[in-house]
Amino acid sequence: MALILHNSLSREDEVFTPQNPKEVTLYTCGPTVYNYPHIGNYRAYIFADILKRTLIYSGYNVNHIMNITDIDDKTIRDSQKEGKTLKEFTEFYTEEFMKDVDTLHILRANKYTKATEYVNEMVEMIETLIEKGHAYKSDDGSVYFNIKSFPEYGKLTHLKLDALEENAGGRIKKDEYDKDNAQDFALWKAWDETDGDVFWETSLGKGRPGWHIECSAMSTKTLGDSIDIHTGGIDNMFPHHENEIAQSECATGKSFVKYWLHNAWLLVEGKKMAKSAGNFYTLRDLEKIDVTPLGFRYWLMTAKYNTPINFTIDALHGAQKAFKRLGEAYLSYPEGGTINTKYKTAFMEAIENDLATPKALALVWELIADDTVSPSDKKMTLLDFDTVFGFGLKELQKEESVFLCSLTISNYRDFPIYRQDNLSQYEYNQNELLKV
Ligand code: AMP
Ligand code: ZN
Repeated sequence: MALILHNSLSREDEVFTPQNPKEVTLYTCGPTVYNYPHIGNYRAYIFADILKRTLIYSGYNVNHIMNITDIDDKTIRDSQKEGKTLKEFTEFYTEEFMKDVDTLHILRANKYTKATEYVNEMVEMIETLIEKGHAYKSDDGSVYFNIKSFPEYGKLTHLKLDALEENAGGRIKKDEYDKDNAQDFALWKAWDETDGDVFWETSLGKGRPGWHIECSAMSTKTLGDSIDIHTGGIDNMFPHHENEIAQSECATGKSFVKYWLHNAWLLVEGKKMAKSAGNFYTLRDLEKIDVTPLGFRYWLMTAKYNTPINFTIDALHGAQKAFKRLGEAYLSYPEGGTINTKYKTAFMEAIENDLATPKALALVWELIADDTVSPSDKKMTLLDFDTVFGFGLKELQKEESVFLCSLTISNYRDFPIYRQDNLSQYEYNQNELLKV
């Protein structure tokens, strides 16, 4: 069996072959720590976790790096609003993020690289880009990447440079912008008063790095010039990943990433869940409707990582109930069995086929219903599957009702999102449950 991954660069399913057969290098674009991550963000990290667990299940060692963006336009803006130092502000949200990582059973990365700790490496890379003629200083002392100096610019998102003629000579200083605004982008932002006390005095002058150079410099420093897999959400493709490719490949002269993998949106009523849209929910919000973090993790498994998933209260309650049933089934089986090879083979086929978790989850239920498999073998086989799913069945104890989540009526009325009809449906479901 070979591991197949959908590569966003080629837009094709490809057989995965790492540079070093013994160790896979994996880089995940991590959070910008300016707020509590919402559950859409966690789709990106749970997807990366399933990928990593699948690689381990397939026999690879994985060297996984995730960055923490603790310096960018948004962290500066919001730390100032709260009257806190950048460090104080970002450390709080980094800690909150790490707590959620553990609660969600996301395996910790080998290293979490904070952008503020790699400014020297960023400056070095920018100096190289200037020397090689790919970057230039503007009048205010900022440094920009010249996208026309890299003929392959746009290869990830299939953007044609010709289409950019209108913006010829244009520059963009903001970290985030869309394809229609593709222009020379900032590598180094010269200090201005909106930055307050956030700056570094470097050979490039007084200023701070742009967002995109952060990941190029940190991945090169920790994993080398060429890495096997780079992941992120679909919105990271442009401009962030496109810019990462341009910076890294121009600086090193080598191919940056072999396999680019991107997760699709977590939607709310058909729209992307986003902080800026105000339609976002955190793990803490889910608790208010009796959905546990692992119930949420289960729900994500019901869709393949690169297809959109739509957030509805009913879907999450359905997943939570299924998760509870799975835990109860597992706990009812005795110890002492062995892994069922037929199911293991089918499971591997599913998960190695570009992480087809819905198929893998269907096998869980097939196994539970299969009278030809002994209960103790079911237990061992479920445990084996769980090294990929990460539901934590092994640690599951009968008394852990929190883990299983008893669906009781709680303060869901405070939950901000739902229209009246959703609430009534929930209330109805609850009444039905209580009748049983
Ligand atoms: P940020 O902290 O904004 O840089 O986002 C962290 C990660 O979450 C990135 O990989 C984003 O692409 C991803 N992300 C943001 N919103 C969503 C969403 N609604 N659905 C899926 N992934 C998302
Ligand atoms: Zn990144």
